Amino acid sequence: MQLFSIFGDPVSHSRSPLMHNCVFKNLKYRACYTRTHLLDGDKLRETFFSLGLSGANVTVPHKEAAYDACDEIRGFANKVGVVNTIVNENGKLIGYNTDADGFMYSIEEFGDVKNILILGAGGTAKALSARFLQDNIKVDVINRSEGRLSYFKELGCECHTWESFKAKKYDLVVNTTSAGLKDEELPAPKEIIDSTLNNTNFVADAIYGKLTPFLKMAKEKNITFKDGADMLLGQGVLANELFVNGELNKEDIKTYMQKSFEL
Ligand code: NDP
Repeated sequence: MQLFSIFGDPVSHSRSPLMHNCVFKNLKYRACYTRTHLLDGDKLRETFFSLGLSGANVTVPHKEAAYDACDEIRGFANKVGVVNTIVNENGKLIGYNTDADGFMYSIEEFGDVKNILILGAGGTAKALSARFLQDNIKVDVINRSEGRLSYFKELGCECHTWESFKAKKYDLVVNTTSAGLKDEELPAPKEIIDSTLNNTNFVADAIYGKLTPFLKMAKEKNITFKDGADMLLGQGVLANELFVNGELNKEDIKTYMQKSFEL
């Protein structure tokens, strides 16, 4: 029996155990997926091994620490330095990033998006901005503090703190901050969110399972919006494929993972 886990702080809200266990149970794959509340990202590697895990997902705020914890990084995670999926390959930790492709899957219904504003400059923002630029989408980033913006400047994004920001016209505004996750905060001062929402066609939040104050404002303005549930599904299917290493069919994984959202 293989054991998988998600690491995060907070982690009690995570739907990942339900999603992956629904796949394992229905497809009779001998594995179980649990959650681990990890306060210190530097302890990720030793905790992973002490639990005897075959693989893991990593959520806020440890995705950058997860990159450092791995022996080898594969694919898109190399580009962004952010890992959300770890696979134990014969005692070596292999790091991947499935968030960005999961998000691209989730915004397909918005059609041709050319111009995106990202709120926040953490691990998720890094992954999404690099993925958007790969598709020649113009990316602006706004964050409450300056420190994390240098990565995005180097990548070619237009960057602002709250002080220097003036809203332009966007196809999509995405909240990647954790504001609203365990509190009722907006990702930026109300005037900024207000002017931003008045200038966008679509809105998305990486947070799932609740109507954040940010999404509430979008709803009040009748803007088409979505929370992070489809992103969660997209990244989860890709992570599960890596966990089972080709032993299960991708469409079956998606079917049962989707079913877990009804539970
Ligand atoms: P990080 O900790 O790496 O980054 C958090 C970002 O949020 C930083 O830019 C930080 O700003 C900003 N921030 C935190 N609190 C506030 C606040 N009160 N007001 C304004 N800005 C704030 O987090 P991640 O990128 O890993 O995750 C971000 C969110 O995305 C989480 O809520 C997570 O649950 C969600 N997520 C959802 C996924 C899904 O599948 N749906 C997948 C991945 C993430 P500063 O730099 O100033 O500290």
